[in-house]
Amino acid sequence: MSDKGYILVGHDGAQALAGLDDALAADGYKVRSVGDGTTLISYIASQSPDLVVIDESIREMAPLEIVRHVRHRVGSRDVPLLLTSSQAQGDDAATAIRAGATDYIRKPFEIGELLARIAAHVTRGRLIREARREADTSGIVLEIVRDVTASLSSEEIFDMLVRRVSRLFQIRRCSMIMIQEGGERGTVVAAHDDPSISALSIDLTRYPEIRQAVETGAPVLVKNLRGSALFEQIRPLWETENIDVDIQSIVAIPFAFDKGQHGVFFLRSSPDEPVLDEESVRLTSAIAQGAVRALNRAAMFESVLSHQEQLEILAKTDELTGCLSRRYLMERLENELERAARYERLLGVVMFDIDDFKRLNDTHGHTTGDAALRSIGEVLRRSLRTADFVGRYGGDEFLLVLPETSAHGTHQLAERIRNGVSRREFDLRGGMLRLTVSGGVAGFPDSDVMALEDLIDRADVALYKAKAAGRNKVFIYSPNMMNDETEEMEKKAESGR
Ligand code: GH3
Ligand code: MG
Repeated sequence: MSDKGYILVGHDGAQALAGLDDALAADGYKVRSVGDGTTLISYIASQSPDLVVIDESIREMAPLEIVRHVRHRVGSRDVPLLLTSSQAQGDDAATAIRAGATDYIRKPFEIGELLARIAAHVTRGRLIREARREADTSGIVLEIVRDVTASLSSEEIFDMLVRRVSRLFQIRRCSMIMIQEGGERGTVVAAHDDPSISALSIDLTRYPEIRQAVETGAPVLVKNLRGSALFEQIRPLWETENIDVDIQSIVAIPFAFDKGQHGVFFLRSSPDEPVLDEESVRLTSAIAQGAVRALNRAAMFESVLSHQEQLEILAKTDELTGCLSRRYLMERLENELERAARYERLLGVVMFDIDDFKRLNDTHGHTTGDAALRSIGEVLRRSLRTADFVGRYGGDEFLLVLPETSAHGTHQLAERIRNGVSRREFDLRGGMLRLTVSGGVAGFPDSDVMALEDLIDRADVALYKAKAAGRNKVFIYSPNMMNDETEEMEKKAESGR
């Protein structure tokens, strides 16, 4: 088989994808054309192609049907599937990608661009398969690498890594540090212990374990910080500066990117947390390897995104807060709710609203208000797990969506977020300010929730109760709240009469 890759093209006759087979062959791929869906599916299963192009002209089955079929088979779950179509509706692309298509190309296509995309997907697909193979020794590593490889941007990958790994080892402190030129300083690009220290520049002379990992290129394990000679020089400094170091064990895993940039995956446990040991080093190294591959690829993949796609991504994001835009949030929530209803799964939502935000705007100005929105958006985004998402619902309202989570579990997370927000100070354009948020939680299944609006209404009612109870609180929706509400409204209506 050609080393460049083996590509199956599903289309009916030469007209449908004029010139594609030849262009692929000229580019060094081995190509095979198939005219109908049944044969295509059987070839995908038996011949492990590196990529499959499915054109709308394929006979017997609809392209989406083929995609769903392929994605349900364990052996072919990773194969990149590219759909080509001349229907120019934006929704079709979204539907196709949700169904599991890797990419969606509109016809007429520009052959150079299509070849670039195919090349990127072939490489990406191979890397994923390779990462999976290597990670196969450990189910946990596999799961994390899969999450990581599903993310497209470097930022998401960093974030996901620190969150997943800190959860894996049950430690609070986990971060990724990029080494700055000269090796004297490091930039914290993601941190699980405290979202506020992200993008913080640190002095590496204070972190001998990080320096050693970078200099030797090998993992550093410190099981007991107290007895470790590595910290001999720095210990007196802790004493003079009266720093109480509540760290027991440390793991620092060095890694390097294609571009020559170095970083360290940095885990620390307190005396009340599990001790990090050789097994932690082994697992973290395996995860880091998979992640670095994903990160290298993310850099490459980001560069092949077309202008149109960048615009589409922008439209899905709220510019100020970086959370999902309201429209896209509702679209995703609708899907999640449908899925939860179909498969009888749990789904939790939280409506968060900043307390007394108008006053903040009035006292400190709108720019400070904007900075507060940005900070809260960041806190929310960083507190989510892989499948969760958060969008800006309105002015100072954010909606968190937690698939596979009960109302109780959702409440716990929301409460943790509320508490975290209330306990820290926010650096908003120079001044340090305190903020609080209130939250309303609603869950599915709930006998009365039939539609998206019902779920959001319930979260809103609970939020209203939390505000009425004095703010800086999270309430779970319960049916009697609705009754109270109706009574109140009736009272109001009566008194108005
Ligand atoms: P409560 O505790 O009851 O929520 O009081 P509140 O003052 O926060 O009241 P409310 O949530 O109704 O106020 C929302 C305010 O948010 C009103 C509006 O001026 C402000 N706001 C909405 N969007 C923006 C924005 O993009 N930037 C800024 N700076 N302010 C915004
Ligand atoms: Mg508010």
